[in-house]
Amino acid sequence: MARLESFDKLVSLSKRRGFIFQSSEIYGGINACYDYGPLGVELKRNVKQMWWNAMTRQHDNIVGLDAAILMHPKVWEASGHVGGFTDPLVDCKKCKTRFREDTLPEANMKSKECPECGGELTESRQFNLMFKTQMGAVEDTASTIYLRPETAQGIFVNFPNVVDTSRQQIPFGIAQIGKAFRNEITPGNFIFRTREFEQMEMQFFVNPEEADEWFETWKERRMAFYDTIGIDRENLRFHEHGPDELAHYARAAFDVEYKFPIGWSELEGIHNRADFDLKQHEEFSGKNMGYRDPQTNKVYTPFIIETSAGCDRTTLAAMCEAYEEETLEDGSVRTVMHFHPRLAPIKVAILPLVKKGGLKELATEIKDQLKSHFNVFYDEKGAIGRRYRRMDEAGTPYCVTIDFDTLDDKAVTVRDRDSMDQIRVPIAELQAWLAERILIS
Ligand code: ATP
Repeated sequence: MARLESFDKLVSLSKRRGFIFQSSEIYGGINACYDYGPLGVELKRNVKQMWWNAMTRQHDNIVGLDAAILMHPKVWEASGHVGGFTDPLVDCKKCKTRFREDTLPEANMKSKECPECGGELTESRQFNLMFKTQMGAVEDTASTIYLRPETAQGIFVNFPNVVDTSRQQIPFGIAQIGKAFRNEITPGNFIFRTREFEQMEMQFFVNPEEADEWFETWKERRMAFYDTIGIDRENLRFHEHGPDELAHYARAAFDVEYKFPIGWSELEGIHNRADFDLKQHEEFSGKNMGYRDPQTNKVYTPFIIETSAGCDRTTLAAMCEAYEEETLEDGSVRTVMHFHPRLAPIKVAILPLVKKGGLKELATEIKDQLKSHFNVFYDEKGAIGRRYRRMDEAGTPYCVTIDFDTLDDKAVTVRDRDSMDQIRVPIAELQAWLAERILIS
């Protein structure tokens, strides 16, 4: 299957069918901000639901959390975000090393040259990724707070609460899905890099001696997840961070990368964060963040294995993976989104051939039977061929057509999105027939 060469076709399909719109479009839009339309919101919810199930339902030792976006400003001091992101930065265009402008020798700044490799330095810029805002009615520095740039800190600060209330013992994890905000210097590539996005993060707390083993386990499990949402293993790979790429908190880091039209790019980060976060919060809050092993009674600071995935990027990868322009036997081209049935925004389309002759009433009855089981879409207008094509672009795995034979044989025609094969299925068996293919496949 030919792969997408750019995001352009996806952008226009998204607008045409209602997956994703430019934010505030009637005002000319706002750079790199997007709204999920009727199909997109379903698709994204399915991505989140599958991740949530894979984490919390499939693991007895992972619990969920939904922390506030606005947190105490000290959180971001402890995490390193306040200090770490407000320096004037310059990048070396050649070796990509990053420097604090104020620590560079004068000579280098004058010649705009990198000390190690002699490459050219960029202009310096204020690199504060966090969005600042004011809390309360009085505008003073004490009321400055931040929109969280990652969901992880909400998990770390709640570690003692979860230990005290959930009956979990190490090793265990806390999963969270939520919005994060970064004032990215170069956002772009559709929903790949935006300033407001959603993360799906699971922080796994382990005994330091077992951290390396758990790191390997989570690498494997996370890679396996992408198979369950229909992403071909050939289009995925690991990228290991070298010593110069490692974040200040990380002992080891691998990215899961997907082969996007812009090239191999990060979908998810898997990090061994060691005891950095809990130790920092212990120091800054003065609260004990240690863990008492119930067997040995020994207190220690757990290590954290982090799996941090982007919800929007996963949705974008699923869209890239699904997209096909298929040339049919008659030479015409149909655009079809081959979503995994579990991800498909609409599972079943109910299409009476015509409105007259009792077909509309029967189709409505079938729709009402199915709608408590699946997301069903009803469409009675226009030529049937055109209605099929619209559903192909929406990625609907099955179209159910009600025709005049249905009145006699109590069966419907079910059209398969991918093969376009059509078979008759008795109405009485329809729900089970669909459930088997949509929920189990
Ligand atoms: P990148 O190198 O692409 O900026 P990152 O290494 O800073 O990403 P993390 O901090 O590890 O990213 O965040 C975890 C995940 O959150 C990323 O793998 C990505 O899927 C998602 N993510 C991060 N920043 C953005 C963004 N600006 N827009 C959309 N998704 C993002």
